[in-house]
This record gives sequence, C-alpha cells and structure tokens, in this order.
Amino acid sequence: MSDTVERIKCLIIGSGPAGYTAAIYAARADMKPVVYTGMEPGGQLTTTTEVDNFPGYPEGIDGPTMMVQLQQQAERFGTEVRIGMVTEVDFSDEEGGIHKIVVDGNKHIEAETVIISTGASAKYLGLESEQRLRGGGVSACAVCDGFFYKGQDVAIVGGGDTAAEEATYLSKICNKVTMLVRKDHMRASKAMQHRVTAASNIDLRYNTEIDEVLGEQVVEGLRMVNNQTGAKEEIEITGLFIAIGHKPNTDIFKGQLDMDDTGYVLTEGKTTKTNKPGVFASGDVQDKDYRQAVTAAGTGCMAALDAERYLSEVESAVEA
Ligand code: NDP
Repeated sequence: MSDTVERIKCLIIGSGPAGYTAAIYAARADMKPVVYTGMEPGGQLTTTTEVDNFPGYPEGIDGPTMMVQLQQQAERFGTEVRIGMVTEVDFSDEEGGIHKIVVDGNKHIEAETVIISTGASAKYLGLESEQRLRGGGVSACAVCDGFFYKGQDVAIVGGGDTAAEEATYLSKICNKVTMLVRKDHMRASKAMQHRVTAASNIDLRYNTEIDEVLGEQVVEGLRMVNNQTGAKEEIEITGLFIAIGHKPNTDIFKGQLDMDDTGYVLTEGKTTKTNKPGVFASGDVQDKDYRQAVTAAGTGCMAALDAERYLSEVESAVEA
C-alpha cells in the first residue's frame, strides 16, 4: 500500500469520447484534470474500424486514430492522462467534500470533483467463433458498422428494443436481414416490433439461436439452431450484429451512486449531476438510449461545465 495521498481538482475516470471531451473543457477551465484510462484506453471506439458519423471528419476516421487525437487535444491544454484502473471509491455526501479514490489497489487520491465516463460494454454471446470474428464481420453496433454491408445479407441476434431498432436500420441498407430471437416472442415494445414485421426483407426467426458463426478470417455464414426442435440450418451472411444488451461499467460505484435497475448511473434532470455533490456522470455510463460517440462527447462537455460551476459555488460559499 502506498501512503502518499495526492490531491486532484478534477479527476476523470474513463478515456472514451466523454472522458476526453470532459478533459478538454476542464483543462481549458484551468481545473488541471487527470484522466485515468481504465483497462481499455480510448474506450469502445478503439474496437471499431471506420467512424463515419462523427461530425467534422468528411472522409471518416478510424476509431483508434480518433481517440489518439482526442487524447492529444486534451493533453494540449494540460490534461494529465494516466494508465490505471480505479478500483475503489468513497464519495463524500457533503457539498465541497473530498472524494476518496484508490487506483490500481494502492494509489490513494483525494478529488474535489469526479467525472465518471466509464462507458458501457456490449454483451456478446461468448461463442468461440463469435469472439474470433469480432472485427471480421461480427459487430455490436449496427449504426457504426451497418454501412459496410450495404446490399449484402446480414443477421442480427436479440429481441429487445436495440435489436428491433438495429434490424430496422439494417433493413434499409442491406439486402436481407435474418433476425434471431431466442424466445417465441420479442421483448421489444410493440411499436418497435411492428417496424420489424413491416419490413419485407427482415426474416424473423423465433426460438432460434446461433450454433456457430462460419468463416475463418471473415464472416461467411451462420449455423442456426431451433431450440425447440433442435433443427439446424446454415445461411450465408457477411455480417453478424449482436444486440443482446449493454452492461454499464458501474460495478465499483454500486452502493455509492443512484442507479437504475440495470446499473446505469442516474443524473439529475438535464444535468450530469449524480446524487453525490461534486460527482458527475457523462457518456454511455448514464445513457442507455443514444450511445453514440458524439452524444457521449456532448455530455462530457456538460460534465466539465457542471464541475466548473460546482467548484465556483463551493469557493463562493467558503469565501462568504
Ligand atoms: P434488452 O436487455 O432489453 O434486450 C436484450 C435482448 O437480447 C432480449 O431479447 C434478450 O432475450 C436477448 N438476449 C440476451 N442474451 C441473449 C443470448 N445469450 N442469446 C440470445 N439472445 C439474448 O437490451 P436492449 O439493448 O435491447 O435494451 C436496453 C434498454 O434500452 C431497454 O430498456 C430498452 O427499452 C432501451 N432502448 C430503448 C430504445 C428506444 O426507445 N428507442 C432503443 C434501444 C434501447 P430475452 O428476452 O429472451 O431475455
């Protein structure tokens, strides 16, 4: 255990578009932000290839390059980016209170403000063939990667709102979308289900799961299995989209922050304020609906502005 305790004005946990945008704003406001990157520096975007929908990149940009550029932009204004994993938090309940953070199990930090941008991770089925072909035709984001399968045959797994929305999105781009739902009904809202059934090129298969994703380097097909009859069937596809939900990375904040029943951090009204004064949440960790790089960046900006205002109010209260 390290005995030294470091004091930080603005600690940012997570290094995706939300974290780095918060850092750019916080650094420019002279809050001397420190970013802890977490296990996946750069966040989810580093696992995607081309990013074509972030405004300002007319030719598109690959995800890892974009994240390096965001990091450089944050560092240009004095952000300190550190590789490390926050392992423990003890947030103060007091206005102006100090938040205690432990990094990598042994480094102790006291933070005046904390911006949580730890994101969410897409859930995968866990099949060996699925994991091997991630980035080779297996994707967890139709809005990010659907365009690459224009005019082609693809498949999607899941029966919730995300799967329904993404299947509908893909049906407008692709030739045919086979949708695999493991139960005999979908969990998605009726309105979303209606959109799926109204699309003539979505082949909806109930009671159906993936037996294996076919292909060595890239996805070439799918072997499906009917979980009622055991009947197997192979189809040719070039893209497979997994839409079985996301898990917000909030385990270390449980018991400290208010969350919804699926673990997303709750924020107050239109702000990024959590239930603890001086602790803010931005990006996918508090957004289960939009989950885009640009919306994450937007809430990162809001979190830095909220943190700056909070510090000013605390300073004014101390002076008074
Ligand atoms: P959900 O948890 O709602 O749905 C996940 C789906 O994936 C379920 O159909 C589930 O099946 C299926 N699934 C889970 N694990 C497996 C597996 N191993 N194999 C096959 N299928 C599996 O997640 P979503 O991402 O769809 O939605 C999350 C939240 O976000 C929801 O509250 C949703 O309403 C909301 N949302 C709202 C949108 C909107 O309003 N526009 C858009 C997108 C999301 P089963 O039913 O059998 O458990």
